[in-house]
Amino acid sequence: MNNHQYSYYMPTKCFIGHDIIDHKKDLLETFGKKAYIITGRNSSRLNGSLHDVTKALDSVNMNYEIFPEVEENPSLETINKAISDVSDIDFVIGIGGGSPIDAAKAISILLKNPTYDAFDLINTTEKLSHLPVIAVPTTAGTGTEVTQYSIVTDHKAKVKKNLGQSVFPSIAFLDAKYMLNLNRKITINTCIDAFSHIAEAYLNRKANILTDAFCEKGLKIFSTIFPKLKECNLTLEDRENLMLLSTLGGMAISQVGTSLPHGMGYALTYHKNQPHGKANGLLYYGYLKSFKNQNKVNQLLSLINMKSVEELQSHFSALFPVDFSITDDEIRDFANKMAKNAAKLKNHPEDLCAEDIYTIYKVSLF
Ligand code: NAP
Ligand code: ZN
Repeated sequence: MNNHQYSYYMPTKCFIGHDIIDHKKDLLETFGKKAYIITGRNSSRLNGSLHDVTKALDSVNMNYEIFPEVEENPSLETINKAISDVSDIDFVIGIGGGSPIDAAKAISILLKNPTYDAFDLINTTEKLSHLPVIAVPTTAGTGTEVTQYSIVTDHKAKVKKNLGQSVFPSIAFLDAKYMLNLNRKITINTCIDAFSHIAEAYLNRKANILTDAFCEKGLKIFSTIFPKLKECNLTLEDRENLMLLSTLGGMAISQVGTSLPHGMGYALTYHKNQPHGKANGLLYYGYLKSFKNQNKVNQLLSLINMKSVEELQSHFSALFPVDFSITDDEIRDFANKMAKNAAKLKNHPEDLCAEDIYTIYKVSLF
């Protein structure tokens, strides 16, 4: 066991299973009189999750408004738009992938603190309260339903970053049926995001026996799903396992945070338009090869039935090749910026300089 001090706090009540929203709809009444539902542009209407939520709200005579406009990697502008014309909201329901749920978290803070807008929020160091949030994930990747983080895009500063506030959802409803028609590309990208949460928690400076327990179980689940990802012919049971993998990853990073691939991947998302999970996954070769404690890397690999980093990399590159152009100058610039990202670097067990980070980009992407 690690000999440092640690704690565990993750207050979200998770309800898991088929038609879970219908079974637990009475809980909604406890949150007040009016809900604000935040979704992406289309998928929640197509996969039944929005219908399940509005049906449950109708059945308990709850008022609600819907903001169906959150884009991938939600921007501060969209978050401001969401709060511009609503009133008397008691709680916020985020339905969708990580983007609408993270936007719902930011919106829950702004509705509680009406003197702030999203740009104030990204710049303040004050810790702010929020309205209750209910999360209904329809992808299995981010684990945001059990984390305190809200990742937003600041186009003025040209960065993606964590808002820096703490918004754990009060409730997460986990029903894998919403993912039955999730396409291959999004399934792979989100699954690799879940893997990267688990790997970065497992190889984290703050890793402890509790986070290791989540990670080891998550890695075992990943080992059963990983061989099926290429064909992506997934059953409902596979989808349920994927959902659990994602939630276990969220529980682990809620305690210890993510580290290098996440911090480095945000630049690939912002500047190269790469989906979040793929952006992380692309950097794993350099990250794992350069990691000093190769014993722990080998433990991680053995839990997913891989013999070497090279073997993992050959599977990763078959799932998501580097299919965009990037220059040496660009990765130098990304590495220099990452070298100043203290929030991510502190979770990595070794001290790194910009040159080390540049090498991880270089060996992974060229
Ligand atoms: P996403 O950006 O929320 O959504 C990606 C795409 O998937 C969208 O086109 C969306 O369509 C579609 N989609 C969602 N659910 C679907 C379903 N059931 N069936 C079909 N299509 C579906 O993707 P994500 O990977 O879940 O979230 C990524 C975001 O979460 C990033 O901003 C990332 O930085 C953040 N993140 C947050 C945390 C955290 O702890 N807060 C952790 C990791 C990552 P619609 O737009 O039409 O809905
Ligand atoms: Zn992530």
